[in-house]
Amino acid sequence: MRKRFIAGNWKMFNGPTATSEFMVNFVPKLISSKDIAENIKSKKMEVAIFAPFVSLSAAVKASGSSSLIIGAQNMHWEKSGAFTGEISAPMLKELGCTHVLIGHSERRHIFHETSEELHKKLNAALEEGLIPVFCVGELLEDRESGSTFDVIRKQLLAGLKGMDGNDVANNIIVAYEPVWAIGTGKTASSEDAQEVCAFIRKLLGDTFGEGIAVKTLILYGGSVKPENTEAILSMADIDGVLVGGASLKPDSFLGIAKAAVQ
Ligand code: PEP
Repeated sequence: MRKRFIAGNWKMFNGPTATSEFMVNFVPKLISSKDIAENIKSKKMEVAIFAPFVSLSAAVKASGSSSLIIGAQNMHWEKSGAFTGEISAPMLKELGCTHVLIGHSERRHIFHETSEELHKKLNAALEEGLIPVFCVGELLEDRESGSTFDVIRKQLLAGLKGMDGNDVANNIIVAYEPVWAIGTGKTASSEDAQEVCAFIRKLLGDTFGEGIAVKTLILYGGSVKPENTEAILSMADIDGVLVGGASLKPDSFLGIAKAAVQ
């Protein structure tokens, strides 16, 4: 059985003070929620927050020994150098991050990050021992023109080009996030999300072998809330959720983690 991965992407919300306030409320509830704590302890579930760079220290400190995973939302592919405004994987490691989002649709579409750059970022994260959550997803126009699978295939294969299958299975998490469902309140139906996640798993199988595909975690993201989490996670190829808006309030994110208990 694959574990469940429940991740909150805070985007450009929650500076250090708001982060500490969130954690003071959230962490004790996470620890004292018996079913969630048991799932985490028995490695059936992981819960993660992807915080803004400036809030990572506060998040790591406040997460303490709770097993809450803290990750960053982006990184540069070089370890250091003249890249004003950028943050590297070793810097994230030094802060205590274990995970990093790579290729979130806002990075691809607002900041025009290319597949080549994302491929370099994935390799740099792996080299540093950070687990990348690699996001793929189609635009509304792609879906309407029937090219969803083509877009997903191109994004996925470009990112994972030349990678070792064991890295894909054990050290990378894939997140399917249809761009039209992010922050819009429009959720892909569970069946639509499953269809694309199953396609991703098949593609991983064709590329790296069936044994790799069955082990790889695949998440869905796009207007996930406590109320729709159970239905989404009941789908065979969806192993977790990547949550934006609904991860900003402790009780709502906790509700999502509760709905994910298995
Ligand atoms: C996201 O930011 O990855 C996301 C899925 O946002 P939301 O849940 O708000 O749609």
